[in-house]
Amino acid sequence: MLKSATVTPTTMRAVRVNQLGGPEVLELQDMPVPTPRAGQVLLKVHSVGLNFADILNVRGEYLTRARTPFTPGMEFSGTVVALGDGVSHLQVGQLVAALGGSGAFAEYAVAPAMACLPVPANLSAREAAALPVSYFTAYFSLKTLGRVKEGEVVWVEAAAGALGTASIQLAKAMNTTVVATASTPEKLEIARGLGADHTFLSGDVDLRTRIQEVAPKGVDVYLSVTGGGGFQDRLSVMNSLGRVMVIGNASRENANLNPTMLMKKNLSVIGVWLTPLLQEMNVMLEASAFMYPLLESGKVKPQVGQTFSLEDAGKAFDLVLSRGSTGKVLIEP
Ligand code: NDP
Repeated sequence: MLKSATVTPTTMRAVRVNQLGGPEVLELQDMPVPTPRAGQVLLKVHSVGLNFADILNVRGEYLTRARTPFTPGMEFSGTVVALGDGVSHLQVGQLVAALGGSGAFAEYAVAPAMACLPVPANLSAREAAALPVSYFTAYFSLKTLGRVKEGEVVWVEAAAGALGTASIQLAKAMNTTVVATASTPEKLEIARGLGADHTFLSGDVDLRTRIQEVAPKGVDVYLSVTGGGGFQDRLSVMNSLGRVMVIGNASRENANLNPTMLMKKNLSVIGVWLTPLLQEMNVMLEASAFMYPLLESGKVKPQVGQTFSLEDAGKAFDLVLSRGSTGKVLIEP
């Protein structure tokens, strides 16, 4: 039986994708408020984190192909307004950060109860919306799959972005040396503010030399998010036994990979996709055990960028695509 303490409206505004494409396909429509099924909760959406994956999903270019019509939005903060059957560990009125699925570009959204994370008391609802995707991806890339050790050198690309800012903070909390790259001096300033040890413009023609100067043995873990034609050249800065974490391909260009280069240094190239890892309870618990004390003490803080209304969701997409965003861009009903 559905448990609900408040009167919830029957209709809501939601951003719909009726055909795949760029930001222009996003349409604001009236929709029925969804009903949580067994194991789900209904949340009144506070803030939605816009992920690069949302943009790719709307274009039909994500790892799984979206079926239209749908409402995008895979991570958000919100207040529990109704519990589906079998949900006992969450309470109506509780603020949670929900992760996974879709449907959050709306006033109300359902989420699996197991995908609702507690929000530390010192985090705002906006900061909570910037937490799930970027921080769990950063942790899995660095530790679970990247096996980073204290004292190693980590290279964070797109360092002022949502994933980049999370990666810098977690890599510093793991006592590593962080080399951060981004496209503008302002973005490098943000990276330094979060503790990056060495910062360089990604377009610097001498980038390889600059990284070699500060990390003579090379980079141990490279968090690769831009991909594209320069991917192989960037591997020349790796230390032997280095781990190249292929997390994203923001350039949306193909990359080459020379097997000899991998053999010479015993490099590992490791793909990262958050979605399947969310089903692995042991890795989720390990990541949470590392991150929550840091979040609760304020040592790690999700970085919130620009905020847009549901009506302006397309402008939020444009901002990320134009590389103008920093931190996590939010959309709010
Ligand atoms: P960001 O907030 O980091 O924004 C994207 C950034 O990518 C830009 O700010 C820009 O930084 C850089 N970039 C480089 N080339 C381009 C380009 N051609 N167009 C747009 N941006 C470009 O986004 P996210 O944190 O959401 O995602 C970062 C990357 O990580 C994406 O590739 C995303 O797909 C990936 N990701 C993958 C996950 C997974 O499970 N595998 C989970 C989460 C994110 P700059 O200007 O400094 O170059």
